[in-house]
Amino acid sequence: MAIFEHPSFDGHESVHSFYDAKTGLKAFVAVHSTHLGPSAGGTRFWRYENSDLALRDVLRLSRGMSYKNAMAGLNLGGGKAVVMKPEGDFDRAALFAKFGEFINAVGGAYYTAEDVGMTTDDMRTIRTKTKFVAGLDEGDAASGDPSPVTADGVFRCIKLAASKCEIDLDGAMVAVQGLGHVGYTVCKLLHGAGAQLVVTDINQHAVRSAAKEFGAKTVAPDEIYSQAADIFSPCALGAILNPDTINQLQAKIIAGAANNQLSVPQMGQELQDRGILYCPDYVVNAGGIINIAGEIEGNYSPQWVERKLKGVENTLEEIIDLATETGRTTDTIADEMARARIGR
Ligand code: NAD
Repeated sequence: MAIFEHPSFDGHESVHSFYDAKTGLKAFVAVHSTHLGPSAGGTRFWRYENSDLALRDVLRLSRGMSYKNAMAGLNLGGGKAVVMKPEGDFDRAALFAKFGEFINAVGGAYYTAEDVGMTTDDMRTIRTKTKFVAGLDEGDAASGDPSPVTADGVFRCIKLAASKCEIDLDGAMVAVQGLGHVGYTVCKLLHGAGAQLVVTDINQHAVRSAAKEFGAKTVAPDEIYSQAADIFSPCALGAILNPDTINQLQAKIIAGAANNQLSVPQMGQELQDRGILYCPDYVVNAGGIINIAGEIEGNYSPQWVERKLKGVENTLEEIIDLATETGRTTDTIADEMARARIGR
């Protein structure tokens, strides 16, 4: 597939492909923008049917990181890596050591961290070959697992959106989709604030835990959209806001951690037409990259992270207020703000 004609190409500054026969490594690194600083974003380790799907993912995800980092007020551009999971047996340590060499070859235009399928062990392996890696759990500025900070940011955004819609979180009903690293902690914070919960996950163990720990009502995965909830918090998958699901929604607010929630941009308008406040995903879920940015800049501290999370709340408020004043959709406003910040 040609790069410059690719439908997901968006003026990316560089796109790198790497291959190593010995370890079976096939990887892409895409640097979307370095306007605000070196690009940063996680590595996704996933089984792709073919390299075209992997390329599409890295192009889209790196663009998303430019927007997310810019809106979080970080001195970072947007980049992403994907490593195609080899078929059959493979030597994980050798694979990621080689990948570390390739990250190093990009010369600092891209910093990597964890994303789907990656662990802190993998980050340590990559660190043996390059310094352009974060999300480590040891070292001077190590920031550790970013998920709790992502959950904190999501919770703050839910609180802000609720107050804008004059919904009291204490006693409000919140539907949470996905009880993983982020979603479960979001539930804990909501429960602490007095919210009632209705939850779903394909992992029954997580569902049972949430019922027990938070008194959450539990429903099957395809029933979560139609629940009589005030707020819907998608914390599992992308593209879950589509014509089929938004017709079922009763919630007045959507704010969650999942990336790329709108199946197509037109869904933003559809939600607004139904009187639903959509809080743009890449604004709401920036807590994790904020945590990682502190590590990259070498100035990680809880106080610094707190200031940046407060900035996320302020940005979301600005977007909501502008949408109310102008009648434009929140996602369009966020996209425009992000593009202006990255000089596009
Ligand atoms: P995770 O893998 O720990 O949790 C995802 C959960 O969703 C799992 O429990 C899984 O069983 C569940 N799930 C999968 N398919 C489902 C379905 N059809 N219905 C209901 N539940 C389903 O992932 P996470 O780290 O908690 O991240 C959640 C989302 O937030 C992802 O989309 C991720 O890309 C995004 N995100 C995460 C972070 C972070 O710091 N971890 C940061 C930004 C964005």
